[in-house]
Amino acid sequence: MSAAPLRVVPAATPVPRTTIADLIRDEFEVDLYLPPRDNAYLYGPHCSARGCERPGNELIVDHARFCQRHGQRFQQAKLTVEEFLVDPPVIAARTELTGLPRYDLTASSAVTRGELRLLMQAMHDGAFSLTFSSKRWNALRAVYAQSEQESLVDIDLSRQPGPRVATGSAKRFQRFLADTYERLAGREPSRHDDVWPRRLYACFAHEMQGRPPTQMDFRAIGVPWLRQTAKEIAWQRMGVEGISPGVVWGMVREVIRFQDWAGERLVSPVDISRALLVEWLLHNKATRPPRAVSQRLSCLRLFIEHARVGGLAISPDATYLPGELGIRDELERPPKYFDDRELAQLDAPANQARLNDFNRRAYQVLRHTGMRQRSLVHLRFDCVVEAGGAFYLRFFNTKHRGAPKEHTIPISPDLAEVIRAQQQWVRFFWPAQEPTWLFPARNSNPTGNRPAHVGAIYNALVKWVKGCGLEAGDGQELHFWPHRLRHTLGTQMINEGVPQHAVQDYYGHASPEMTSHYAKLQDHTLRRELDGFLDRVNRRGERIEVLPAGVPADAALLKERLSRAKQTLPNGYCGIPVQQQCPHPNACLSCDAFVTDEAFRPVLLEQRARAQQLAEGAQADGHERLAQINLADVAALEAILTGLDDLLPAEADEHFDVRELGAA
Ligand SMILES: [Zn+2]
Repeated sequence: MSAAPLRVVPAATPVPRTTIADLIRDEFEVDLYLPPRDNAYLYGPHCSARGCERPGNELIVDHARFCQRHGQRFQQAKLTVEEFLVDPPVIAARTELTGLPRYDLTASSAVTRGELRLLMQAMHDGAFSLTFSSKRWNALRAVYAQSEQESLVDIDLSRQPGPRVATGSAKRFQRFLADTYERLAGREPSRHDDVWPRRLYACFAHEMQGRPPTQMDFRAIGVPWLRQTAKEIAWQRMGVEGISPGVVWGMVREVIRFQDWAGERLVSPVDISRALLVEWLLHNKATRPPRAVSQRLSCLRLFIEHARVGGLAISPDATYLPGELGIRDELERPPKYFDDRELAQLDAPANQARLNDFNRRAYQVLRHTGMRQRSLVHLRFDCVVEAGGAFYLRFFNTKHRGAPKEHTIPISPDLAEVIRAQQQWVRFFWPAQEPTWLFPARNSNPTGNRPAHVGAIYNALVKWVKGCGLEAGDGQELHFWPHRLRHTLGTQMINEGVPQHAVQDYYGHASPEMTSHYAKLQDHTLRRELDGFLDRVNRRGERIEVLPAGVPADAALLKERLSRAKQTLPNGYCGIPVQQQCPHPNACLSCDAFVTDEAFRPVLLEQRARAQQLAEGAQADGHERLAQINLADVAALEAILTGLDDLLPAEADEHFDVRELGAA
């Protein structure tokens, strides 16, 4: 055996050491830094008051942003934003710098001074999506001063609360500086490390899946082989399967939770047994809502499957069986759509007026398109297309998995108008920027190119409904969450006879299963309607039971569904089964199959008045035959209305509740 020839390795040439000081540009080597007035990060967008160049970061009201001084004046003035902005007061300034941001870059230690200047430069360059102020800057300097450390990296921020205004950004600055020091030392983050910084996996995140977690810290997994496996599976799921970092980190957290609970029972892979998993399931079921148990333990099951395939000696039966994690049948849960009465309350102008412009428009887009909230915040500024006199909306269908898909749906001119108003709002709010999003985040968003946070809109809408004190159909407080608007629109479309495949296209559902969920809900609506409304009358005013004795309720429901699919009349229902031809179209009032109910009373009253008028007119003109036809209609309508009256409970007042009718 001959040894491989030795390669000659050249001696390492000494690399000139780079330090933090080398990274700082001259303009930041100053003791007092005055940012340029067009810098969105250190100066901020200007105050909305005409002629005021101070940063408008103090107060945000509707589409206007105010500097501290105009903010105070606005609050004292008790005017609307529009009124105030017509002729805003001129604020006398003592010096040219009054109210303008200025940043103190001095420090007694050279290390601290270097870090402050580097941070200032990074902020100026837009490394953090922050609008800074002198006040926040001084709070950061106080964090340095209160510790005895020279470098922010060495300060334990959890031990040192510091002024609250600085804590959040100090953490980000700390990570930035730690990264910088690592890079200066020639070290790049690696997937073999135990702590992954965001920049290691940021490339796997799609812009529309939300910001990936700031870091993934695997040190919480104490057992070495489990930690190693978690890192491998996490990397593989992001890189190969295209799963977003947020979802992957959710899986790792479930592993951490499981390991913390199992404690010393988890020493080697064989300890992951069916018995241990079942015990963990029971523990979860006792302490958590079913949906959370299902979601979380599915993550764990997936992890174990990956680990087994990856070669860990985990027993094949160590898993959860189909159905064990299952949530209850969707239909057993209370329906998630809003009924007409609930929608009417949500849409009532008085309630809408309690939302600010931004959130009201967000609500309207969700309400009338049924899109997901994540799609809403990622609507492009120019998302409306006008073609052939009609309006269309382009948006991205987003889910956790896979890349978002672009999708175009028709919208009403009214909604197009709402969007136009929102575009104006964005232009007013960020006058100097080229707009990216239709609903950008309003805070900490100096350039407007960060979309609103889903949670912010969610919370605002939930709080709004709570504040309005709305009532659900059952008289309880209305339980609102925005995704219910999506279910509502789907259910409405199905109810109005839009074919299921068209609804599927509209929602961009990959499979018909999701859409059939709405169709099932339709049965649920119908059933509720039938249970509630009960009886109807025919043309002679005779009572017709909707759920007649002797016929299974399901059969009655099926008949109802078939006849509704066939024909919806302006004044009632056609009772002829769909399989049969109508013998006399357009003459429902003389047809025995015609039935109607209380809901049509206003139409019937109007119809009676019109028939009466026509009959009188015909009589005056001497058209006896025409008069008779109309009088027959009047008589039929009289009988129907009397029949409807008879269905009402004796002491019914105008607010009667249909459910009482059923009980009577
Ligand atoms: Zn101002």
